Amino acid sequence: MSWQAAYESAFSDSLSVPLPYGEKGRFQPELDVVYSYNVGLEEGQVLQVEIAQENTAQRLFIDILQSDGNTYRSLAKSQPGATKLEAAAVFSGIFKVIVQAEAGATGNFFISLNKKPMYAFPVAGKGNAAIQSFWGAVRDGGKRSHEGVDIFAKKGTPVIAVSDGTITRAGEYGIGGKQVWLRTSIFGKSIYYAHLDKIAVESGNSVKTGDTVGFVGNTGNAKGGAHHLHFGIYSAMGAVNPLPFIFRTQEIGQQDYARRFDTTALRIREARATLRLGPATSFEKIGEAAPGQTVTLLGQHNAWLHVRTISGVRAFVHASLVKV
Ligand SMILES: [Zn+2]
Repeated sequence: MSWQAAYESAFSDSLSVPLPYGEKGRFQPELDVVYSYNVGLEEGQVLQVEIAQENTAQRLFIDILQSDGNTYRSLAKSQPGATKLEAAAVFSGIFKVIVQAEAGATGNFFISLNKKPMYAFPVAGKGNAAIQSFWGAVRDGGKRSHEGVDIFAKKGTPVIAVSDGTITRAGEYGIGGKQVWLRTSIFGKSIYYAHLDKIAVESGNSVKTGDTVGFVGNTGNAKGGAHHLHFGIYSAMGAVNPLPFIFRTQEIGQQDYARRFDTTALRIREARATLRLGPATSFEKIGEAAPGQTVTLLGQHNAWLHVRTISGVRAFVHASLVKV
């Protein structure tokens, strides 16, 4: 298969992996393998792909694409010499990551796929645990639903700009009490901070991520209640769930290259082996491999092996079902 044909074959390959995801493998010239993974992301998350390789001189090509249901649209391509690539999920959906090494590449590598929140956390010194009321919670006996998240902190805790942008409104109005609106410079979202005790910016101010825009309080309809920040995000289409924009999930770091199997050809053990779309029993079964059949080992994710069958199907198989 030519290098270009190998790249194109990656589009018909639809292995799914959970995030975070790490895979250890070895580039082998005779395999000319393209690594391709589908991952799900929510609006507000950033996908980060990173490859560490033993043979640092060889070139890597990383692409991130987003599915529109029928085709894939390119979101980002790596620069020459880069081993890392990021793309923001402007819409929730399925993303495809394609990693190809230059022709003839050799040596061990480690691929990591992580998702990160697009924005900084809105309350200084706080994190996920301080978010105690979520999107969609019932308000006013069901007359409206909660169009944001509530982040609890002591009165006076700094509230910060989650992104670079411009303050479009700052003052005391209605149920939100003392509030600040920040228009972000990328993707044009409006950020809404409500129930502030004090406001630290004025309309028209430019802010950088991390600048203090106000302080946690209980003004507006939070009066008399616990001090908290109501945090909302609005797009041109209306309110969106802010949680994925600020919620930090577990990330996988770079690891050593040590692999369970230090070989390319593996044989299915006595029992028939289930081939799956992803590295867990929760993923769809896409076929079976018969006892004695040989599979090509492309990579390893904990006890799950990324393999290619003799008929060219990519799949995951559990390590207990194969032998050297
Ligand atoms: Zn709220």
